[in-house]
Formats: sequence, structure tokens, C-alpha cells
Amino acid sequence: MTGPATVGPAARRPVGSHTPTSGGLARSVLPYVDAAGSRVVQVYVSNSRGWALPPGDPAQDALLRDGCGARGVPVYIHASLLVNLGSPTPATVQRSAQTLAHALRRGRAIGAEGVVFHAGSAVEAGYAETAMRQVRETLLPLLDEAAAAGGPMLLVEPSAGGGRSLASRVEQLGPYLDAVERHPMMGVCFDTCHAWAAGHDLAAEGGMTATLDALVATVGADRLKLVHANDSKDLCGSTRDRHENIGKGTIGEPAFAELMRHPATAGVPVVVETPTEKHEGHATDIATLTRLHP
Ligand SMILES: [Zn+2]
Repeated sequence: MTGPATVGPAARRPVGSHTPTSGGLARSVLPYVDAAGSRVVQVYVSNSRGWALPPGDPAQDALLRDGCGARGVPVYIHASLLVNLGSPTPATVQRSAQTLAHALRRGRAIGAEGVVFHAGSAVEAGYAETAMRQVRETLLPLLDEAAAAGGPMLLVEPSAGGGRSLASRVEQLGPYLDAVERHPMMGVCFDTCHAWAAGHDLAAEGGMTATLDALVATVGADRLKLVHANDSKDLCGSTRDRHENIGKGTIGEPAFAELMRHPATAGVPVVVETPTEKHEGHATDIATLTRLHP
């Protein structure tokens, strides 16, 4: 999975979607995976806009783990969107740490490969340095614990920018990884809509390629562990994060063709978080990206 792109199964980029879990983890996810044609799946294990940390149902956990294992479908968790390790409010930092610890525990129960969380923001002027210290102090024990337990990894996702975000441009991932001493359990999730919103011109010819080149130059060749492939409803640099179906938005299909053939994405799973009616929008986007695969 590292080094130059290789031919064959190792270079395959499995494509899937963020998948709803209401009604039981395995009971809702497995039929959705089959209907959408997903080769990778991402789920929430707690409310995306809440702090409650549900324990999970061991029977559903086992069914999901076995069902995805049998299908060869890797599982990823997206942590609550409220997580902000850079917050100037101590209670938010504490709840964020508890939420990530919970997601890692749940990830072990369902056999997840990684837990995605947003890079966060300092919120207030002059708080960036303290915010990065909070990132370090919160993440290092969790990363050590993940290493000892054999996974899952923590995957930082750059935000759409604005609001004093700690990492939105790919170049900002360098200092973010430095803050956790480039810990081996720390990976990166690259979201195309966020990068576009943060000012990377992915729609220009060669723009996606240049952005992924810059990502690799900043974080190294093997840190990219997951891609969120989302088109956008907004303009480049808008700092707005409204996802659109692949090829139907302002980023456009040629950029996603560049994404699917860049050496940095070889072997890396690609998840869509696009608008969908039941599984149908996702099925179309998964088919589109799979068609763009070399
Ligand atoms: Zn995303």
C-alpha cells in the first residue's frame, strides 16, 4: 500500500458510503451495504450531534463484524461532529476525549480499521497554540492505548476552513501530526469537499493531483488511510461544507478521476457522504467512482 502505485488487487481502492445505523447496527448496515454495492462502510457509533455514548449491543456488534468480514468490507467509524480538541471550553475538550475513547472501544468491538474525527478549531483569537497543546495531550494517551490494543487507528480529517480551524489546508496537517510526534497510530482522512471549501482548486486540471501531491509532501507517503469523496454545492474557498453527488457539483467528475488514479490513494478506501434517497444516491456515486477507477 506504500510507495509507487502497483497493478493488481493491492492497488484497488474500495468504494462505499457512510451508512445509517438506526434500527440496529448489523440489521441496518448489512442490507444497505448490499443494496448500495459498498466495498467499505463508515458508521456513527453515537449521535453525530450529541454527547451521549451508547454501550452498543454485543450481538449486533458480532453480526456486523462477521458480516463485513465475510464480505471483505472494511469498517470505519466517524466520531461525533461535536468533537473539538482545540476548544477553549474545558468541558468540550473533556467530552471530546471521552467520545474518542468510546469510539475506539466501539471500534474494537466491531473490528473497525479507523476512527475519523475533525481536526477542530481554536474558536477564539490567540488560542491556537493552547489548542494544539490540547490536541497533543488528549491524543497521545489515546494513540498509545490504540497501539497497545492493536487498533483502530485515529484518522484526523481537515475541516472546511474558517472559524480558526486547526487544519483545513493539507499543509496544516504537518504541524498537526508533529503535535502527536507523528505517532504510528495517527492517520489522515482526506475529504474532497472540505479541501475545496478550504481553497484547494480541485476543479482545475491537475488540481486534485497537485493537492494530493502536497498532502503526501506534508504527511508522508503512508499516512493517508481514508478518503471522503464528496462533490460540493459551493465555490472553491467558500469554507462551506455542503456535499453534492459525485459529478453533480462544483468540483466535477474529472477531479474525481484524478483522485481515483493518484498513487497516494492506491489501496486506500473511498467513502461517499453524499445526498441520498435510501441507498440510491450512494449506489450511483459508488458506481461512478468505481467506473473512474483505472
Ligand atoms: Zn467527511
